[in-house]
Parts: sequence; structure tokens; C-alpha cells
Amino acid sequence: MTHTTSAAIVLRRRDYGDFDLILTVLTQGNGVCTLIAKSAKKSVKRFAGILEPFAGLHIVYRQGHGNAMPVLEEATLEKSYGSVRNDIVKTAYASYWSELVALWLESGQARPDVYELLDYVLDGLSGNTAPGALLSLLFQMRFVGQEGLRPVLERCVCCQIDIEQLPQQLFCIDLRQGGIVCHACPSPETAQLQLGKGTLKQLLWMAEGDLATALRVRFSPRAMAEATTFLEAFVPYHIGRAPKSLAFLRQVRNPSV
Ligand SMILES: [Zn+2]
Repeated sequence: MTHTTSAAIVLRRRDYGDFDLILTVLTQGNGVCTLIAKSAKKSVKRFAGILEPFAGLHIVYRQGHGNAMPVLEEATLEKSYGSVRNDIVKTAYASYWSELVALWLESGQARPDVYELLDYVLDGLSGNTAPGALLSLLFQMRFVGQEGLRPVLERCVCCQIDIEQLPQQLFCIDLRQGGIVCHACPSPETAQLQLGKGTLKQLLWMAEGDLATALRVRFSPRAMAEATTFLEAFVPYHIGRAPKSLAFLRQVRNPSV
């Protein structure tokens, strides 16, 4: 019987029958895994109520027989990401990020880069080091970048002319081509999505380098609103799925962001 030990963040939890739970977790060493926690609902003592969404755990699990789901054997709480579950807007952001990870990553593929990113933004959300809206821009820019889907924001995706060479201040987005389009090129179907030149530069700043440095960027309320609208259209479009939690996030957060 092979046992695997790993740090893991709970992405999703659902009931299975009267006694068991099924957990989707992002492990540090083995990527996304779906595990069954037997008797987790029946015996409070067994996992001590720690198998909650966005909990940072240290887990031990074993492969099931044949194609059976791996079984969670032990779990200890390493990081609770404190205030996230007590705040509905924080919960909504964490749900959105977790759902993107669960929807997009292949099971069992080691992704320490995504683990580090998710841990970082959950820490930031929990410790109030930055607003949820800003952490969400950082998460989305880095996540699509790590997946090879980073938007082209430094030049027109049609004619390839650099934004610095173009006099215009506002750029349309072509979701299908994955970037901005200048005024001289054919107007895209998604021309209602627009970003100012300043916002483009701020998003480019967030896309690279140290995570803490990337968070130092200061968005005006207008730039924050257009960057948020853009990324929440771009990311689902390119992963090819509409996260259910995005509708929830839009419902609960302050309409000004
Ligand atoms: Zn162009």
C-alpha cells in the first residue's frame, strides 16, 4: 500500500453518502487530487472538523484499489487562512480562484508554482495585506501566465505595433486572439471590452517578478474596474469554462470594484 504525504489546500468539499466526504485538493507535490475521507461526517474526532474549503492541510493518503479513489488517512491543519471563511466576499474570491485551479489543472500533475500562487493570495486575503480585488488581478494574471495563456497587452495582437508607438489611450480587447487591438486594425467582436494604456502597463507589471512587488501597483477605481471586467472575461474564455463561483462573486462584492 503506497502512502503519499503532502501539504495540500482544500479546493472543494462535497458530501458523499451519509458518512463520507469527497475532497478536491491542490497538493504541493502531486497537483490536483480528489480524495475520499471515510467517516469524516460520522466521526468528528477523526478529522476534527478541519476538512473545510481553503484549509491548508498536511495530509497522508493512499491509493485506492484498482480505479478506486485515493483515501485520506490523516490530516492536520497547517494553515487555516484565518478570516477567509468568516467573510462572504473573501469566501467568494477564494472560491473563484479554487474553482479555476480545479477546472483547469490536470489531476496528478505536479504544479508547485500554482500551489505557491494560491497559498500567497489566500495568505494575503486572510491577513488583509491587500484588497481581494487586487489579489484577484494578481492571481488571474499569474495563473493564465503559468498556463501559457497570458494576454498580449504590450502590442496590438494584429499588426504587432508596440503600445508605446501608438498615440491612442484606449484599446479594445479581442478575446479570441488573446490580446489588445489598435484603432488601425479591424475592430474585434468583443470591442466593448476596453483597457486604458495605463491599465495595460499596470497589468503587465503584475504579470512578472516577485509577487509582493507586483502587489505594490496602485489602481485608480476606474482602472481597477476595467482590469477586473477584462480578466473575468478573459480567463474563463481561455480556460473554456464558466466558473459558477464567478456569478456568486459578482453578486456579493462591492459594485464599485
Ligand atoms: Zn493593430
